Amino acid sequence: MIDRDRLAHLHERELASFASRNPKSAAAYAAATHLFGKVPMTWMNKKAGGFPLYLAGARGNRVTDIDGHEYIDFALGDTGAMAGHSPQAVVDAIGRRIYEQGGLTTMLPTEDAEWVGAELTRRFGVDRWSFSLTATDANRWAIRLVRALTDRPKILFHSYCYHGSVDESLIVVGPDGEGMSRPGNVGAPVDVTQTSRVAEFNDLEGLERQLAHEDVAAVLIEPALTNIGIVLPDPGYHEAVRELTRKYGTLLIIDETHTFSAGPGGATKAWGLDPDIVVIGKAIGGGIPSGAYGLSAEIADRVLGRTDLDLVDMGGVGGTLAGSPLSVAAMRATLEHVLTDDAFDGMIATATLFTEGMQAILDELELPWAINQLGARAEYRFVKPYPRTGTEAHEAADEGIEDFLHLYLANRGILLTPFHNMALMSPDTSAADVEAHLAVFQSAVRELLNR
Ligand code: PMP
Repeated sequence: MIDRDRLAHLHERELASFASRNPKSAAAYAAATHLFGKVPMTWMNKKAGGFPLYLAGARGNRVTDIDGHEYIDFALGDTGAMAGHSPQAVVDAIGRRIYEQGGLTTMLPTEDAEWVGAELTRRFGVDRWSFSLTATDANRWAIRLVRALTDRPKILFHSYCYHGSVDESLIVVGPDGEGMSRPGNVGAPVDVTQTSRVAEFNDLEGLERQLAHEDVAAVLIEPALTNIGIVLPDPGYHEAVRELTRKYGTLLIIDETHTFSAGPGGATKAWGLDPDIVVIGKAIGGGIPSGAYGLSAEIADRVLGRTDLDLVDMGGVGGTLAGSPLSVAAMRATLEHVLTDDAFDGMIATATLFTEGMQAILDELELPWAINQLGARAEYRFVKPYPRTGTEAHEAADEGIEDFLHLYLANRGILLTPFHNMALMSPDTSAADVEAHLAVFQSAVRELLNR
Protein backbone atom coordinates (compact mmCIF):
# COMPACT_ATOMS: atom_id res chain seq x y z
CA MET A 1 0.00 0.00 0.00
CA ILE A 2 2.92 2.36 0.73
CA ASP A 3 5.00 3.11 -2.36
CA ARG A 4 8.56 2.69 -1.04
CA ASP A 5 10.14 4.84 -3.76
CA ARG A 6 7.80 7.66 -2.90
CA LEU A 7 8.55 7.16 0.81
CA ALA A 8 12.32 7.31 0.12
CA HIS A 9 11.94 10.46 -1.98
CA LEU A 10 9.81 12.24 0.64
CA HIS A 11 12.18 11.14 3.38
CA GLU A 12 15.14 12.67 1.52
CA ARG A 13 13.22 15.93 1.19
CA GLU A 14 12.43 15.96 4.93
CA LEU A 15 16.06 15.16 5.84
CA ALA A 16 17.25 18.14 3.80
CA SER A 17 14.68 20.38 5.43
CA PHE A 18 15.67 19.11 8.91
CA ALA A 19 19.35 19.84 8.22
CA SER A 20 18.67 23.37 6.95
CA ARG A 21 16.25 24.17 9.80
CA ASN A 22 18.66 23.07 12.53
CA PRO A 23 22.21 24.28 11.86
CA LYS A 24 23.08 24.74 15.55
CA SER A 25 21.97 21.24 16.55
CA ALA A 26 23.83 19.81 13.55
CA ALA A 27 26.99 21.67 14.57
CA ALA A 28 26.73 20.61 18.22
CA TYR A 29 26.45 16.97 17.16
CA ALA A 30 29.28 17.24 14.65
CA ALA A 31 31.53 18.79 17.32
CA ALA A 32 30.87 16.14 20.01
CA THR A 33 34.00 14.03 20.49
CA HIS A 34 34.06 13.25 24.22
CA LEU A 35 30.78 11.39 24.48
CA PHE A 36 30.40 7.68 23.84
CA GLY A 37 28.50 7.59 20.54
CA LYS A 38 28.55 11.44 20.48
CA VAL A 39 25.56 11.70 22.86
CA PRO A 40 25.03 11.67 26.66
CA MET A 41 23.27 8.27 26.41
CA THR A 42 23.69 6.01 23.39
CA TRP A 43 19.90 5.73 22.97
CA MET A 44 19.88 9.41 21.95
CA ASN A 45 21.24 8.14 18.65
CA LYS A 46 17.69 7.09 17.79
CA LYS A 47 17.43 10.15 15.57
CA ALA A 48 15.15 10.18 12.56
CA GLY A 49 16.82 13.34 11.24
CA GLY A 50 20.44 12.13 11.25
CA PHE A 51 21.36 14.15 14.36
CA PRO A 52 19.41 14.89 17.54
CA LEU A 53 17.77 18.22 18.30
CA TYR A 54 19.61 19.90 21.18
CA LEU A 55 17.41 21.19 23.98
CA ALA A 56 17.37 24.84 24.98
CA GLY A 57 14.48 24.62 27.46
CA ALA A 58 11.06 23.14 28.17
CA ARG A 59 7.93 24.15 30.07
CA GLY A 60 4.54 22.50 30.22
CA ASN A 61 4.15 20.62 26.94
CA ARG A 62 6.46 22.91 24.97
CA VAL A 63 10.10 22.22 24.13
CA THR A 64 12.51 24.74 22.56
CA ASP A 65 15.66 23.71 20.71
CA ILE A 66 18.92 25.64 20.33
CA ASP A 67 17.93 26.79 16.85
CA GLY A 68 14.98 28.58 18.43
CA HIS A 69 12.13 26.32 17.27
CA GLU A 70 9.26 25.58 19.63
CA TYR A 71 7.67 22.13 19.61
CA ILE A 72 4.42 20.72 20.92
CA ASP A 73 5.85 17.80 22.85
CA PHE A 74 3.91 14.51 22.78
CA ALA A 75 7.03 12.56 23.83
CA LEU A 76 7.19 14.08 27.31
CA GLY A 77 10.50 12.39 28.02
CA ASP A 78 8.96 8.98 27.22
CA THR A 79 6.72 9.46 30.30
CA GLY A 80 9.37 11.01 32.58
CA ALA A 81 7.66 14.36 31.94
CA MET A 82 4.03 13.16 31.91
CA ALA A 83 3.42 15.88 34.53
CA GLY A 84 4.60 18.44 31.95
CA HIS A 85 8.08 19.96 31.84
CA SER A 86 9.20 21.69 35.03
CA PRO A 87 5.73 21.87 36.61
CA GLN A 88 5.55 24.87 38.93
CA ALA A 89 4.59 22.93 42.06
CA VAL A 90 7.59 20.62 41.61
CA VAL A 91 9.94 23.51 40.87
CA ASP A 92 8.68 25.25 44.03
CA ALA A 93 9.11 22.13 46.19
CA ILE A 94 12.62 21.34 45.01
CA GLY A 95 13.42 25.05 45.17
CA ARG A 96 12.47 25.04 48.86
CA ARG A 97 14.68 22.02 49.43
CA ILE A 98 17.58 23.58 47.53
CA TYR A 99 17.39 27.24 48.58
CA GLU A 100 15.62 27.28 51.96
CA GLN A 101 16.07 23.95 53.74
CA GLY A 102 19.20 22.58 52.08
CA GLY A 103 20.22 18.94 52.24
CA LEU A 104 20.15 17.26 48.85
CA THR A 105 21.43 13.89 50.00
CA THR A 106 22.22 13.05 53.61
CA MET A 107 21.44 9.42 54.58
CA LEU A 108 18.60 10.74 56.81
CA PRO A 109 14.88 10.28 56.03
CA THR A 110 12.60 13.26 55.43
CA GLU A 111 8.96 13.37 56.50
CA ASP A 112 7.86 13.70 52.86
CA ALA A 113 8.64 10.00 52.34
CA GLU A 114 5.81 8.75 54.59
CA TRP A 115 3.39 11.12 52.82
CA VAL A 116 4.45 9.70 49.44
CA GLY A 117 4.17 6.12 50.73
CA ALA A 118 0.64 6.78 52.00
CA GLU A 119 -0.40 8.40 48.73
CA LEU A 120 1.04 5.54 46.65
CA THR A 121 -0.89 3.10 48.86
CA ARG A 122 -4.12 5.07 48.31
CA ARG A 123 -3.53 4.90 44.57
CA PHE A 124 -2.06 1.45 43.95
CA GLY A 125 -3.34 -0.56 46.92
CA VAL A 126 -0.10 -2.21 48.11
CA ASP A 127 0.97 -1.13 51.58
CA ARG A 128 4.74 -0.71 52.12
CA TRP A 129 6.93 1.40 49.84
CA SER A 130 10.62 1.79 49.22
CA PHE A 131 12.31 4.24 46.86
CA SER A 132 14.81 4.15 44.02
CA LEU A 133 15.98 6.66 41.44
CA THR A 134 14.90 4.68 38.39
CA ALA A 135 12.24 2.15 37.51
CA THR A 136 15.03 -0.17 36.42
CA ASP A 137 16.43 -0.26 39.95
CA ALA A 138 12.98 -0.68 41.50
CA ASN A 139 12.50 -3.72 39.25
CA ARG A 140 15.94 -5.10 40.14
CA TRP A 141 15.31 -4.80 43.86
CA ALA A 142 11.84 -6.30 43.60
CA ILE A 143 13.41 -9.24 41.75
CA ARG A 144 15.94 -9.80 44.54
CA LEU A 145 13.20 -9.80 47.15
CA VAL A 146 10.99 -12.33 45.36
CA ARG A 147 13.91 -14.65 44.72
CA ALA A 148 14.87 -14.47 48.38
CA LEU A 149 11.30 -15.11 49.52
CA THR A 150 10.41 -18.00 47.24
CA ASP A 151 13.85 -19.60 46.90
CA ARG A 152 13.12 -19.98 43.20
CA PRO A 153 15.59 -18.84 40.51
CA LYS A 154 13.46 -17.58 37.63
CA ILE A 155 11.40 -14.54 36.70
CA LEU A 156 8.79 -14.73 33.95
CA PHE A 157 8.30 -11.89 31.47
CA HIS A 158 6.20 -11.19 28.42
CA SER A 159 7.91 -11.46 25.06
CA TYR A 160 9.05 -8.02 23.81
CA CYS A 161 8.48 -6.41 27.17
CA TYR A 162 10.69 -3.60 28.40
CA HIS A 163 11.38 -3.01 32.09
CA GLY A 164 14.66 -1.09 31.82
CA SER A 165 18.13 -2.60 31.64
CA VAL A 166 17.18 -5.58 33.78
CA ASP A 167 19.24 -8.56 32.58
CA GLU A 168 16.51 -11.07 33.37
CA SER A 169 13.96 -9.31 31.18
CA LEU A 170 15.86 -9.56 27.88
CA ILE A 171 14.12 -12.73 26.79
CA VAL A 172 11.70 -13.41 23.93
CA VAL A 173 9.68 -16.40 22.78
CA GLY A 174 11.76 -18.23 20.15
CA PRO A 175 10.54 -20.19 17.10
CA ASP A 176 10.11 -23.34 19.23
CA GLY A 177 7.83 -21.52 21.71
CA GLU A 178 10.52 -21.49 24.42
CA GLY A 179 12.61 -18.58 25.68
CA MET A 180 15.73 -17.27 23.98
CA SER A 181 17.95 -14.21 24.39
CA ARG A 182 16.49 -11.07 22.87
CA PRO A 183 18.55 -10.23 19.76
CA GLY A 184 21.05 -7.42 20.32
CA ASN A 185 21.33 -7.84 24.10
CA VAL A 186 24.62 -6.40 25.37
CA GLY A 187 26.78 -8.41 27.77
CA ALA A 188 24.38 -10.92 29.32
CA PRO A 189 25.94 -12.29 32.55
CA VAL A 190 24.61 -15.81 31.85
CA ASP A 191 22.28 -17.37 29.30
CA VAL A 192 18.96 -15.65 29.97
CA THR A 193 17.09 -18.97 30.04
CA GLN A 194 18.90 -19.75 33.31
CA THR A 195 17.32 -16.74 35.00
CA SER A 196 14.07 -16.25 33.17
CA ARG A 197 11.02 -17.66 31.48
CA VAL A 198 8.80 -16.00 28.92
CA ALA A 199 5.27 -16.15 27.54
CA GLU A 200 3.46 -14.13 24.91
CA PHE A 201 1.09 -11.46 26.19
CA ASN A 202 -2.50 -12.79 26.16
CA ASP A 203 -1.28 -16.43 25.93
CA LEU A 204 -2.58 -18.17 29.04
CA GLU A 205 -1.65 -21.65 27.83
CA GLY A 206 1.94 -20.59 27.25
CA LEU A 207 2.01 -18.95 30.65
CA GLU A 208 0.69 -22.03 32.43
CA ARG A 209 3.16 -24.28 30.60
CA GLN A 210 6.03 -22.12 31.90
CA LEU A 211 4.70 -21.73 35.45
CA ALA A 212 4.11 -25.47 35.75
CA HIS A 213 7.91 -25.92 36.10
CA GLU A 214 7.43 -24.42 39.58
CA ASP A 215 10.76 -22.60 39.38
CA VAL A 216 9.34 -19.11 38.78
CA ALA A 217 9.66 -16.72 41.72
CA ALA A 218 7.52 -14.02 40.14
CA VAL A 219 5.76 -12.95 37.00
CA LEU A 220 6.94 -9.38 36.26
CA ILE A 221 4.71 -7.69 33.71
CA GLU A 222 3.19 -4.48 32.51
CA PRO A 223 -0.63 -4.58 32.61
CA ALA A 224 -0.52 -3.64 28.92
CA LEU A 225 2.66 -3.79 26.85
CA THR A 226 3.69 -0.18 26.20
CA ASN A 227 7.12 -0.52 24.71
CA ILE A 228 6.14 -2.30 21.49
CA GLY A 229 3.08 -0.23 20.69
CA ILE A 230 0.28 -0.51 23.23
CA VAL A 231 -0.82 -4.15 23.39
CA LEU A 232 -3.97 -4.38 25.48
CA PRO A 233 -5.08 -7.40 27.54
CA ASP A 234 -7.95 -9.58 26.37
CA PRO A 235 -10.98 -9.48 28.69
CA GLY A 236 -10.27 -11.70 31.71
CA TYR A 237 -6.53 -11.99 30.97
CA HIS A 238 -5.33 -10.45 34.21
CA GLU A 239 -7.75 -12.38 36.41
CA ALA A 240 -6.46 -15.59 34.82
CA VAL A 241 -2.81 -14.53 35.25
CA ARG A 242 -3.45 -13.92 38.94
CA GLU A 243 -5.17 -17.32 39.32
CA LEU A 244 -2.31 -19.12 37.58
CA THR A 245 0.37 -17.39 39.65
CA ARG A 246 -1.43 -18.41 42.84
CA LYS A 247 -1.91 -21.97 41.59
CA TYR A 248 1.86 -22.37 41.03
CA GLY A 249 3.13 -20.46 44.08
CA THR A 250 4.47 -17.55 41.99
CA LEU A 251 4.31 -13.90 43.05
CA LEU A 252 3.00 -11.13 40.79
CA ILE A 253 4.91 -7.89 40.16
CA ILE A 254 3.12 -5.22 38.13
CA ASP A 255 5.33 -2.55 36.54
CA GLU A 256 3.24 0.62 36.25
CA THR A 257 6.01 2.90 34.99
CA HIS A 258 4.21 3.59 31.69
CA THR A 259 0.72 2.24 32.40
CA PHE A 260 0.44 4.93 35.08
CA SER A 261 -1.15 6.77 32.14
CA ALA A 262 -4.30 4.65 32.72
CA GLY A 263 -5.28 6.73 35.75
CA PRO A 264 -4.16 8.11 39.12
CA GLY A 265 -3.52 4.55 40.36
CA GLY A 266 -2.37 3.18 37.02
CA ALA A 267 -3.96 0.13 35.48
CA THR A 268 -3.78 -1.58 38.88
CA LYS A 269 -6.51 0.70 40.19
CA ALA A 270 -8.33 1.28 36.90
CA TRP A 271 -8.70 -2.44 36.19
CA GLY A 272 -8.85 -3.74 39.76
CA LEU A 273 -5.62 -5.77 39.61
CA ASP A 274 -4.30 -7.52 42.71
CA PRO A 275 -0.47 -7.65 42.55
CA ASP A 276 1.92 -8.59 45.37
CA ILE A 277 4.34 -5.86 44.32
CA VAL A 278 3.91 -2.67 42.26
CA VAL A 279 6.84 -0.93 40.56
CA ILE A 280 6.75 2.64 39.33
CA GLY A 281 9.24 5.25 38.15
CA LYS A 282 9.75 8.14 35.76
CA ALA A 283 6.64 10.38 35.96
CA ILE A 284 6.15 10.28 39.72
CA GLY A 285 9.16 12.58 40.24
CA GLY A 286 7.94 15.26 37.82
CA GLY A 287 11.35 15.10 36.10
CA ILE A 288 13.58 14.55 39.15
CA PRO A 289 15.02 10.99 39.22
CA SER A 290 12.58 8.91 41.26
CA GLY A 291 11.22 5.41 41.43
CA ALA A 292 9.46 3.19 43.94
CA TYR A 293 8.33 -0.33 44.65
CA GLY A 294 5.45 -1.19 46.91
CA LEU A 295 4.91 -4.51 48.67
CA SER A 296 1.72 -5.96 50.07
CA ALA A 297 1.80 -5.95 53.88
CA GLU A 298 2.03 -9.72 53.85
CA ILE A 299 5.06 -9.79 51.55
CA ALA A 300 6.73 -6.95 53.46
CA ASP A 301 6.26 -8.77 56.78
CA ARG A 302 7.57 -12.02 55.35
CA VAL A 303 10.72 -10.32 54.05
CA LEU A 304 11.32 -8.36 57.25
CA GLY A 305 10.82 -11.55 59.27
CA ARG A 306 13.72 -13.26 57.52
CA THR A 307 16.69 -12.82 59.86
CA ASP A 308 19.04 -14.37 57.30
CA LEU A 309 18.50 -11.51 54.83
CA ASP A 310 20.65 -8.42 55.13
CA LEU A 311 18.27 -5.61 54.21
CA VAL A 312 20.26 -2.94 56.03
CA ASP A 313 23.81 -3.17 54.78
CA MET A 314 25.25 -5.29 51.98
CA GLY A 315 22.15 -7.23 50.88
CA GLY A 316 21.88 -5.54 47.53
CA VAL A 317 18.66 -3.55 47.76
CA GLY A 318 18.96 0.21 47.76
CA GLY A 319 21.15 2.96 46.37
CA THR A 320 22.94 5.70 48.31
CA LEU A 321 20.97 8.55 46.79
CA ALA A 322 17.64 6.67 46.55
CA GLY A 323 14.85 8.30 48.55
CA SER A 324 16.95 11.47 48.73
CA PRO A 325 15.28 14.60 50.15
CA LEU A 326 15.20 16.12 46.67
CA SER A 327 13.69 13.07 44.97
CA VAL A 328 11.05 12.56 47.67
CA ALA A 329 10.10 16.27 47.69
CA ALA A 330 9.61 16.07 43.93
CA MET A 331 7.45 12.94 44.21
CA ARG A 332 5.30 14.55 46.86
CA ALA A 333 4.75 17.73 44.85
CA THR A 334 4.01 15.77 41.66
CA LEU A 335 1.44 13.52 43.33
CA GLU A 336 -0.09 16.18 45.59
CA HIS A 337 -0.38 19.02 43.08
CA VAL A 338 0.22 17.93 39.48
CA LEU A 339 -0.72 14.35 38.56
CA THR A 340 -3.85 14.52 40.70
CA ASP A 341 -7.06 12.55 40.21
CA ASP A 342 -8.62 15.60 38.49
CA ALA A 343 -5.62 16.09 36.23
CA PHE A 344 -6.00 12.53 34.92
CA ASP A 345 -9.61 13.23 33.91
CA GLY A 346 -8.40 16.05 31.66
CA MET A 347 -5.39 14.15 30.29
CA ILE A 348 -7.52 11.12 29.41
CA ALA A 349 -10.16 13.30 27.73
CA THR A 350 -7.40 14.91 25.62
CA ALA A 351 -5.99 11.48 24.69
CA THR A 352 -9.48 10.39 23.68
CA LEU A 353 -9.71 13.38 21.30
CA PHE A 354 -6.32 12.37 19.90
CA THR A 355 -7.34 8.73 19.41
CA GLU A 356 -10.71 9.53 17.86
CA GLY A 357 -9.16 12.11 15.55
CA MET A 358 -6.49 9.66 14.42
CA GLN A 359 -9.04 6.91 13.90
CA ALA A 360 -11.13 9.24 11.72
CA ILE A 361 -8.08 10.01 9.53
CA LEU A 362 -7.13 6.32 9.22
CA ASP A 363 -10.74 5.48 8.28
CA GLU A 364 -11.05 8.29 5.76
CA LEU A 365 -7.82 7.32 4.01
CA GLU A 366 -8.62 3.60 4.39
CA LEU A 367 -5.19 3.04 5.90
CA PRO A 368 -4.76 -0.45 7.38
CA TRP A 369 -3.16 0.93 10.56
CA ALA A 370 -4.61 0.75 14.08
CA ILE A 371 -4.40 2.90 17.18
CA ASN A 372 -4.79 1.92 20.85
CA GLN A 373 -5.31 4.22 23.81
CA LEU A 374 -4.33 3.59 27.41
CA GLY A 375 -5.68 6.49 29.45
CA ALA A 376 -3.48 9.49 28.69
CA ARG A 377 -1.37 7.76 26.01
CA ALA A 378 -2.16 6.54 22.51
CA GLU A 379 -0.02 4.75 19.96
CA TYR A 380 -0.55 3.56 16.42
CA ARG A 381 0.91 0.58 14.64
CA PHE A 382 1.28 -0.01 10.90
CA VAL A 383 -1.04 -3.01 10.88
CA LYS A 384 -4.73 -3.71 11.46
CA PRO A 385 -6.21 -5.07 13.67
CA TYR A 386 -3.94 -4.06 16.53
CA PRO A 387 -1.56 -6.88 17.55
CA ARG A 388 -2.43 -8.97 20.63
CA THR A 389 1.09 -10.18 21.45
CA GLY A 390 4.53 -8.61 21.68
CA THR A 391 5.90 -10.72 18.83
CA GLU A 392 3.05 -9.69 16.50
CA ALA A 393 3.59 -6.06 17.48
CA HIS A 394 7.34 -6.41 16.88
CA GLU A 395 6.68 -7.84 13.43
CA ALA A 396 4.40 -4.89 12.60
CA ALA A 397 7.20 -2.36 13.15
CA ASP A 398 8.16 -0.34 10.08
CA GLU A 399 11.15 1.86 10.74
CA GLY A 400 11.01 3.52 7.33
CA ILE A 401 7.48 4.88 7.78
CA GLU A 402 8.11 5.63 11.44
CA ASP A 403 11.24 7.71 10.80
CA PHE A 404 9.52 9.59 7.98
CA LEU A 405 6.52 10.48 10.17
CA HIS A 406 8.71 11.53 13.12
CA LEU A 407 10.77 13.74 10.85
CA TYR A 408 7.80 15.23 9.01
CA LEU A 409 6.17 16.10 12.33
CA ALA A 410 9.40 17.50 13.84
CA ASN A 411 9.92 19.74 10.81
CA ARG A 412 6.47 21.16 11.53
CA GLY A 413 6.85 21.68 15.26
CA ILE A 414 5.60 18.42 16.75
CA LEU A 415 7.57 15.81 18.72
CA LEU A 416 6.54 12.18 19.05
CA THR A 417 8.36 9.67 21.26
CA PRO A 418 11.43 8.14 19.60
CA PHE A 419 11.21 4.32 19.45
CA HIS A 420 7.40 4.66 19.42
CA ASN A 421 4.53 6.22 17.53
CA MET A 422 3.37 7.26 20.96
CA ALA A 423 1.64 10.44 21.99
CA LEU A 424 1.30 11.20 25.68
CA MET A 425 -0.87 13.95 27.15
CA SER A 426 0.29 16.09 30.07
CA PRO A 427 -2.05 18.26 32.15
CA ASP A 428 -0.95 21.14 29.87
CA THR A 429 -1.75 19.45 26.56
CA SER A 430 -4.77 21.14 24.97
CA ALA A 431 -7.37 20.20 22.39
CA ALA A 432 -5.72 22.76 20.09
CA ASP A 433 -2.39 20.90 20.43
CA VAL A 434 -4.14 17.68 19.45
CA GLU A 435 -5.76 19.42 16.44
CA ALA A 436 -2.36 20.76 15.37
CA HIS A 437 -0.93 17.23 15.42
CA LEU A 438 -3.89 15.78 13.52
CA ALA A 439 -3.55 18.37 10.75
CA VAL A 440 0.16 17.66 10.27
CA PHE A 441 -0.29 13.89 10.51
CA GLN A 442 -3.05 14.04 7.91
CA SER A 443 -0.93 16.01 5.49
CA ALA A 444 1.99 13.60 6.02
CA VAL A 445 -0.05 10.52 5.15
CA ARG A 446 -1.79 12.28 2.27
CA GLU A 447 1.61 13.09 0.78
CA LEU A 448 2.75 9.53 1.41
CA LEU A 449 -0.31 8.11 -0.33
CA ASN A 450 -0.22 10.81 -3.03
CA ARG A 451 -3.86 11.80 -2.40
N1 PMP B 1 9.61 -0.18 33.22
C1 PMP B 1 8.95 0.20 32.11
C2 PMP B 1 7.60 -0.35 31.85
C3 PMP B 1 9.54 1.10 31.23
O1 PMP B 1 8.88 1.45 30.12
C4 PMP B 1 10.83 1.60 31.50
C5 PMP B 1 11.54 2.58 30.58
N2 PMP B 1 11.01 2.79 29.35
C6 PMP B 1 11.46 1.18 32.66
C7 PMP B 1 10.83 0.29 33.50
C8 PMP B 1 12.83 1.68 33.02
O2 PMP B 1 12.80 3.00 33.37
P1 PMP B 1 14.19 3.75 33.65
O3 PMP B 1 14.93 3.73 32.34
O4 PMP B 1 13.79 5.12 34.05
O5 PMP B 1 14.88 3.00 34.70
